[in-house]
Amino acid sequence: TKTPLSLLGLGAMGTALARAWLAAGHPLTAWNRTPGKADGLGADVAATPADAVAANRLVVLCLLNDASVEQTLAGVDLAGKDLVDLTTGTPAQARARAAWARERGARFLDGGIMAVPPMIGHPRSGAYVFYSGSGALFEDHRRTLAVPAGTNYVGEDPGFAALHDVALLSAMYGMFAGITHAFALIRDEDIAPTAFAPLLVDWLTAMAPHVHRTAEHLESGNHAEGVVSNLAMQVASARTLTDTAAGQGVSPELITPFLSLMERHVADGHGDEDGAGLVARL
Ligand code: NDP
Repeated sequence: TKTPLSLLGLGAMGTALARAWLAAGHPLTAWNRTPGKADGLGADVAATPADAVAANRLVVLCLLNDASVEQTLAGVDLAGKDLVDLTTGTPAQARARAAWARERGARFLDGGIMAVPPMIGHPRSGAYVFYSGSGALFEDHRRTLAVPAGTNYVGEDPGFAALHDVALLSAMYGMFAGITHAFALIRDEDIAPTAFAPLLVDWLTAMAPHVHRTAEHLESGNHAEGVVSNLAMQVASARTLTDTAAGQGVSPELITPFLSLMERHVADGHGDEDGAGLVARL
């Protein structure tokens, strides 16, 4: 028999989660602020958040933001419940929400979803969810939680799932900034974006494993060991990047913050190192 659960929030992501649990045979009680979202899903529809919470021990939240969680669960009896909050928020919000849940007699697990809704419920999509908070809750429900996407439990600190989530998203935005700048550089030239795209993908893929070198340097504390492209060399060619941008009529605003961080580090005598030292400087 499959664990029954309640789900609050049937937006794009909540609906994808609901479909995955229902398809796997889990009895599901669903609530959404605006009625009608559960029509045709095959879930039991709860009229109020309190009814949804009362229906099952395992209660999953997938609402817009932490404020909507606060509003939705205000005054609802949470004693003895296992709350899993998949609503995106900051580490501080997750820690506060965990303490709030504990005060109300509930176990709490926070989640950060690393996927878009179409990836949910497809085991080979690469979708997964970071979880942190009550390890006991995670162990008790890990098979149920693994239905919509993969699971990666990152610790008892309830803020760690959000921190991992935001760290990965932040790196992604750095990558998107570079991609935006690169396409801007070629925009007015006779270079087809679709011809350039595979070159960009291959280059980013080749550079990505550098992450491991940075991690090793951060752990060893030796930021100059085995360096092949030191910061002094990189800063010397920074002008090439900004002059090329100027020549192409492209604003350097997406790349200058990182270049100036490197310049300050070299000016302070770290020219023989690679980028690991920038982490502490930032
Ligand atoms: P949607 O905007 O599609 O849905 C938002 C949901 O929150 C709806 O069910 C909405 O109810 C509900 N809601 C909003 N405000 C309140 C409130 N004050 N009280 C009660 N319910 C409220 O968002 P998603 O489903 O896409 O996202 C849900 C969560 O999942 C977010 O935290 C998001 O960051 C996260 N997430 C989403 C991803 C995505 O690609 N979509 C990826 C990873 C995480 P109503 O129908 O009444 O408006």
